[in-house]
Amino acid sequence: FPEVDGDFYDLKEWLTPEERAIQLQVREFMREHIAPIANEYWLKDEFPHHIIPEMAKLNICGLTYQGYGCPGKSNLLEGFLAMEMARVDCSTSTFFGVQSGLAMGSIYHCGSEEQKQQWLPPMQRMEKIGAFGLTEPEVGSGAAGGLTCTCKREGDTWILNGQKKWIGNATFADLVIIWARDLDDGNVKGFIVEKGFEGFQAEKIRGKMALRIVQNALITLTNCAVPESNRLQNANSFKDTANVLRMTRAGVAWQAVGCARGAYESALQYTNERKQFGRTISSFQLVQDLLVQMLSNLTAMQTMVCRLSQLQDNGKLTDEQASLAKVFCTLRTRDIVSHARELFGGNGILIEYDIARFVADAEAIYSYEGTKEINTLIVGRSITGQSAFV
Ligand code: FAD
Repeated sequence: FPEVDGDFYDLKEWLTPEERAIQLQVREFMREHIAPIANEYWLKDEFPHHIIPEMAKLNICGLTYQGYGCPGKSNLLEGFLAMEMARVDCSTSTFFGVQSGLAMGSIYHCGSEEQKQQWLPPMQRMEKIGAFGLTEPEVGSGAAGGLTCTCKREGDTWILNGQKKWIGNATFADLVIIWARDLDDGNVKGFIVEKGFEGFQAEKIRGKMALRIVQNALITLTNCAVPESNRLQNANSFKDTANVLRMTRAGVAWQAVGCARGAYESALQYTNERKQFGRTISSFQLVQDLLVQMLSNLTAMQTMVCRLSQLQDNGKLTDEQASLAKVFCTLRTRDIVSHARELFGGNGILIEYDIARFVADAEAIYSYEGTKEINTLIVGRSITGQSAFV
């Protein structure tokens, strides 16, 4: 667990004393419950289900939502907590982000009052675990206009058909939010598909080389019957899906910062201990150059995501601002984790030194919730007024 602190500009000063206390509780949870087991579960390609009740005790799920048992805290605090988790293990922050952001967020933003009352309190207590199914085997970046998964209304029932790929938590989730195109009006609609619904099948994706603790599934829906009461009543087009993604994309930027921070801190600690030529390697100028490059980027990233969350807290965050932060932070994170690995020398490829896990996990964060190219084109469209999307 890193003993050094990568918050060089003391950005935690922007948290209130109460928020700071919550940040430290999450840090302690990660130190006590996740750090000792992360490599073991990553290698086993398994999820440590026993941590869920411990995590629930932190009372941070659905952190920013008002009502339904949710704490109603700031987006800034939520960002800091995503960073704390990813600083130790990106899989843990991904699992949590899917539950608290993507799944609960879909219900919070697109559900009816009744649906919120039914689902959000048990999800907040982590008694019910959620997943979010948007991506398909043949449709990833082009999800906005290209979903092929279909829904068709028959009386009070909807019939869903198609496949969803990469769906985190879905091998064991109690509910999966499925986004599908209505065969009648052509619009994208969202559904709460519960575990055990006939025609729903989730198969674990094996052979992943990143975020191995997160259980991703290939979902197949074969004439899956979903009651109208499980259709998200306020999801009427892909615009509503995009509203959820804007918030979670900001969370992924924070997650990248956490990954980079954990890697930088580990590298600083390691280079202060490791000796070559009779001196600690951190005393060499070229090593210091790398460490300072990493710290500069890390500090720029941390400052950027703090401002991003302030915009979110003021209700002003735009898609483009979230996309810019996602691109910048995941890109710089890739550099930082690879410099960190370099500074570990050969030990950098051994799982027991953690850093190899960070390098691998950074690759997934780089690609999910919109790749570099897609988020770049979103920003490009905004600043030039010209869309490069077909
Ligand atoms: P593609 O869309 O096939 O892209 C391949 C390459 O082509 C990329 O480099 C892309 O940038 C580039 N490209 C595509 N279009 C353009 C263009 N117009 N211009 C320039 N370049 C372009 N999805 C969910 O719905 N729920 C989840 O829980 C979930 N979890 C995930 C977890 C992991 C570990 C991973 C890896 C993915 C997850 N995803 C999830 C899916 C993820 O969001 C997609 O992988 C991502 O959107 C990219 O889609 P794709 O993999 O199909 O790549």
